[in-house]
Amino acid sequence: MKIGLRMRLLFSHLVVMFVGVISLVIISKISSPRFFVLHLQRLENEGLDLIDVRTELVEGFETAWRRSTIWSVIVGTTAAGGLSYWVSQRIMQQLTEMEQITRKFAAGNLEARLPASNIPELNRLGASFNRMAASLEGVEARRRELIGDMTHELRTPLTVVRGYLEELADGGIEPTPDIYQRLARETKRLERLVNDLQELSKAEAGYLPINIQQVNLRPLLESLVEKFTDQLLEDGPVLSLECPASLPLVLADVDRTEQVLVNLLGNAVRYTPQGAITIRVWTDVSQLWIAVVDTGIGIAPEDLPHVFERFWRADESRTRQSGGTGIGLTISHRLVELQGGQMQVESEPGSGSNFQFSLPLA
Ligand code: ADP
Repeated sequence: MKIGLRMRLLFSHLVVMFVGVISLVIISKISSPRFFVLHLQRLENEGLDLIDVRTELVEGFETAWRRSTIWSVIVGTTAAGGLSYWVSQRIMQQLTEMEQITRKFAAGNLEARLPASNIPELNRLGASFNRMAASLEGVEARRRELIGDMTHELRTPLTVVRGYLEELADGGIEPTPDIYQRLARETKRLERLVNDLQELSKAEAGYLPINIQQVNLRPLLESLVEKFTDQLLEDGPVLSLECPASLPLVLADVDRTEQVLVNLLGNAVRYTPQGAITIRVWTDVSQLWIAVVDTGIGIAPEDLPHVFERFWRADESRTRQSGGTGIGLTISHRLVELQGGQMQVESEPGSGSNFQFSLPLA
């Protein structure tokens, strides 16, 4: 049989009380008459004649002792029992309430929070439960938001593909290579979206493996400049690297840093039809900074606070059908944070953008 906490508390209080009462009664039963007799003897020694009343005095004392002991045991045990019942009840009430609230939370009511308790230990337990609840609520909110955004983003290409396929099936449009190319473009976009989403969900949940090492980033920067220069059109922007000949080592994951730079350079190329793209590198007290500066279309001041939000794209880049998913910068921002750095942006419409991020020096 399992005994509940309320009974245990009550029982332990009662045991303590009984031990106290019984030892009090036994000790006083043995010692009180002795002390009384000793007292009488002292009085007799001092010359008081008690011979006739001695037995009566002792009996009277014993009766008085018995009565007062019975009364004190009755009053004492009742008061102590009642008090212990009240204390156990008070603790149990709070525990039961806590249990009910945690059950509600487990059943999906994520706003449920434990109230403050006047018992410090329960208060601490409640506070840590509330912290956990708040973080779970945040995770759930982000999950819902992500699913909402995701379905919204997936719907557009799917509708386009379905529209074309239905028209083709009905014979409404001719199956020209151009139509197939458009279909391929939309499916490619879907594929990119799904890949980006996978990466984003890993980055947001913190599951992306980050392998931080001491590295010199110069070779990476040089190879990226070479790779991107090869892709630039004759009349496109000019890409250059402004970097000190010897770079201090940084603590970073080379692959993740490359991913960030590819995203920033890809964006710069995409949004800079003509002009210049410059990778600028410098150091401050404890960080290495890398900036990708372009002279492209820029970003409106009211849009700047949103660039790192997932699925966010400026109106121009939506209408330009640049093929972007609006996830790249969200992932880059998170990747830089995971490596202990920070990412910032400055931009002016018409004159260009400056995306810069830092990495801790080794
Ligand atoms: P996308 O895949 O759409 O480029 P990003 O998250 O990389 O997604 O970028 C989000 C949006 O930020 C882009 O759609 C674009 O509107 C804006 N943006 C990013 N980089 C630049 C840039 N260098 N110049 C102008 N706009 C930019």
